[in-house]
Amino acid sequence: MARYKDAVCRLCRREGMKLFLKGPKCFTDKCPVEKRNFAPGQHGKDRKAKVVGYGLQLREKQKAKRIYFTQEGQFRNYFEKAARSKGVTGEILLQQLERRLDTVVYRIGLGVSRRQARQLVRHGHVAVNGRKVNIPSFQTSVGDEITIREASRKLPILEQAKEFAAHGTSPTWLEIDRDNYRGKVLALPKREDIQLPVNEQLIVELYSK
Ligand code: SF4
Repeated sequence: MARYKDAVCRLCRREGMKLFLKGPKCFTDKCPVEKRNFAPGQHGKDRKAKVVGYGLQLREKQKAKRIYFTQEGQFRNYFEKAARSKGVTGEILLQQLERRLDTVVYRIGLGVSRRQARQLVRHGHVAVNGRKVNIPSFQTSVGDEITIREASRKLPILEQAKEFAAHGTSPTWLEIDRDNYRGKVLALPKREDIQLPVNEQLIVELYSK
């Protein structure tokens, strides 16, 4: 699958806000949004027009896509599945994104960023209910136990991630046992559990046209 390989900080600058894609750097004054809060590129500084209507809907969708590192087709699939489900479409959309295995590994605190967590999954370091799963988009369910596989527990990035996560707050829908490289899904995340600078209703409006 195609993947975004450029400098991720450009994505934050394009959205004009911190999307927290790089872990510890995002909380320092080295963050490019702190220093250059305008869109990247030659004419970035000139793009000051107020975004409204379709443009605003598009930006909200792009933001969500970028935060979760999903491609357009996959993101639309999430929307279509949410639209077919019972409940509030926007909330179900975010819930599916949040239930992705890479995000759950990140939320447990075993990666400093979603990107790093995604790499841990892809490289086969993560197990769900004792079985290796190397698909970052794998949808976790209530009761699933997510662990770092025994042979991978000496990876230095895990210690860095645990230290970083110790300064943050842990989501209540997950049981977290970082000392044993383990987490469990206790419940599906509700909207208030998903701290995200995204207006999902605008995404629903965009795709409902
Ligand atoms: Fe975004 Fe983090 Fe880069 Fe800042 S350091 S621009 S928040 S990814």
